[in-house]
Amino acid sequence: MNIFQVLYDEVISFFGIGHVIDVVKSGDYSSLLTFDGILSVIGPFIPFLLLIEIIRAIVYKKFKIDDYRIPFFIFVANRFISRFISIGMVALCIGLFEKHSVFKTTFTWYWLIYGYIIWEFAHFIYHFLAHKVRILWCLHSTHHAPENMNLSVTYAHFFLEAPYADFIRTTICILLGVNAPLLFFIMFVDGTWGAFIHVGENIIKDGRLGFLNKVILTPSHHRVHHARNIVYMDTNFCNLLNIWDRVFGTLQNEKKEVPIEYGITRKINPRNFWDVYFGEIYYLAKDVQHAPGIKNKFLYIIMPPGWSHTGEHKTAKAVKRILNEEEQGKLFITTTPVIEKTEG
Ligand SMILES: [Zn+2]
Ligand SMILES: [Zn+2]
Repeated sequence: MNIFQVLYDEVISFFGIGHVIDVVKSGDYSSLLTFDGILSVIGPFIPFLLLIEIIRAIVYKKFKIDDYRIPFFIFVANRFISRFISIGMVALCIGLFEKHSVFKTTFTWYWLIYGYIIWEFAHFIYHFLAHKVRILWCLHSTHHAPENMNLSVTYAHFFLEAPYADFIRTTICILLGVNAPLLFFIMFVDGTWGAFIHVGENIIKDGRLGFLNKVILTPSHHRVHHARNIVYMDTNFCNLLNIWDRVFGTLQNEKKEVPIEYGITRKINPRNFWDVYFGEIYYLAKDVQHAPGIKNKFLYIIMPPGWSHTGEHKTAKAVKRILNEEEQGKLFITTTPVIEKTEG
């Protein structure tokens, strides 16, 4: 195959404009008014916004190749691997669990609201576990490694994270009656919003989006989620509706007095693809290797990042407790505790 053709196809598929190009070529614009047509027009929104973000950064001379390099490599790696491993987790879960769903829904506005609330619940479960179970954190930490926020972070994921996320989310939604077309529609809307909340500060400085910050999960909330500051750790797990963060007490607004520091708390080289992609797996393997007894080895795998068999935990919960006691004057620690292997 011609190399230029391959590159052309990659660019078209990245921007998601294949359908629109076909329509323009055929001259028949009526298909844009169909449901699929509308989706095909919304799809390119995030890739084009990313392009604008980069162009703006170049124009204002703020463009740093390092901010984009690793997410770009990860995107390419995932694209390459996914060609060989087409897991089709969503289809698999639908096939396996649809017959066991508690009831059937239809494609109507009220079931859409129900479906979205269930989807957010399933997303919360996947995301919460990704932060609280060490082996799952190994899959999710790649997304948290970048030390700068911009739209390219949307594409920075370990290749096994999507099948894991889709397994949890699809199974819960299907079992709770969300039908497949409704689920695909919600996935699309949520995926677009989930990408948008990674918008960089050079495009939208104040990510709170005015009054919306009180109602939904905004870029500001997700910036907080990507922060390694102790007060911000393990908060804002939702995607668009933040109801489940409210229910479980994990909602955290951006504090003016605590500027966000992006990244994870372990010392990492964010410019090193191997460290960003496999670093957490390496450290987990080391901890398991050195842990005494089979029970401790197993606990390292399933306990939250920062858990230690010695009892000197550096989990998000433990360091937050220290910070709280420090703030209440019960402890007099002058320096921030050194945290290793805990999440951002
Ligand atoms: Zn996360
Ligand atoms: Zn994110």
